[in-house]
Amino acid sequence: MSVENSTNDLSTGWFTEVFQNEGTAFSLKVKAKLHEEQSEYQKLEIYETETFGNLMVIDGCVMLTTRDNFLYHEMMTHPALFTHKNPKKVVVIGGGDCGTLKEVLKHPGVEEAWQVEIDERVTRLSEKYFPELCESNEDPRANFFFGDGIKWMADAAPNSIDIIIVDSTDPVGPAEGLFAVDFYRNCMVALREGGIVVQQSESPLLHTDSIIKNVQKDMRDAGFESVRTLPFPQPVYPTGWWSATMAGKNHVLKYFREEDAEQRPFVTRYYNKKVHQAALALPQFMRDILHTE
Ligand code: SAM
Repeated sequence: MSVENSTNDLSTGWFTEVFQNEGTAFSLKVKAKLHEEQSEYQKLEIYETETFGNLMVIDGCVMLTTRDNFLYHEMMTHPALFTHKNPKKVVVIGGGDCGTLKEVLKHPGVEEAWQVEIDERVTRLSEKYFPELCESNEDPRANFFFGDGIKWMADAAPNSIDIIIVDSTDPVGPAEGLFAVDFYRNCMVALREGGIVVQQSESPLLHTDSIIKNVQKDMRDAGFESVRTLPFPQPVYPTGWWSATMAGKNHVLKYFREEDAEQRPFVTRYYNKKVHQAALALPQFMRDILHTE
């Protein structure tokens, strides 16, 4: 968000993302720049860092590192999949690094998963520099569409999807329309009864009174009955603290399949039943701003 500057002067040995509006910056010590290109949509960079593995940067903004992406990908996925009664068809909008898709495919009940990413180059670079995130790409349930997620959702068949995960860049450029009431209305139409949409909703500290509040309002205006924001740590993003906002179609998001979460038949590194319960408890300042429990 609001990145007006990032320095990648390797003579200093540091990559720095500067958040001008917030008066802060985040740096990683880098060993080498592995790749740089201007794709049709954005500037893509890959670095090798000293302690966080590989780093992907899009338009100067840190997207993910090898070391800490599990926090984000697990929290974008498992709370929603363990809240829905029986998710069979899941669509990821954005998420070109394939990390969210990989978490979705860990659920044996999922029969069909789609990744709808506008920039195919993000996926191709992820295959090369983050192969561990792409290891489920050959799963027969995995489907890939490279194009605009906003249009894809507008054209989606009504009542055809159980969960939509919006794993987008910040709400500027091609992702801006993914943070909009019209997009959520199209999600509402595409979702089956009991369906859930999840949106990455930026930093609780910086954006509760702006982006998170607006996302919640837009989701409610689009007809979603239940909306909840789940905070979680994400060290490489501004303030080190991030959030996922879920909205349910005819669905109360307060409860989830706790026993199934506890007995999950796959490995996670951050997510578990108690982490999920804890993420549902909002800090007081967020409750005050969002007027929620
Ligand atoms: N975890 C990251 C974050 O919060 O900064 C997001 C990771 S993922 C790489 C974001 C992806 O969203 C990018 O690859 C970008 O190309 C994609 N994206 C942005 N706008 C899109 C759109 N309208 N349709 C589909 N994908 C989009």
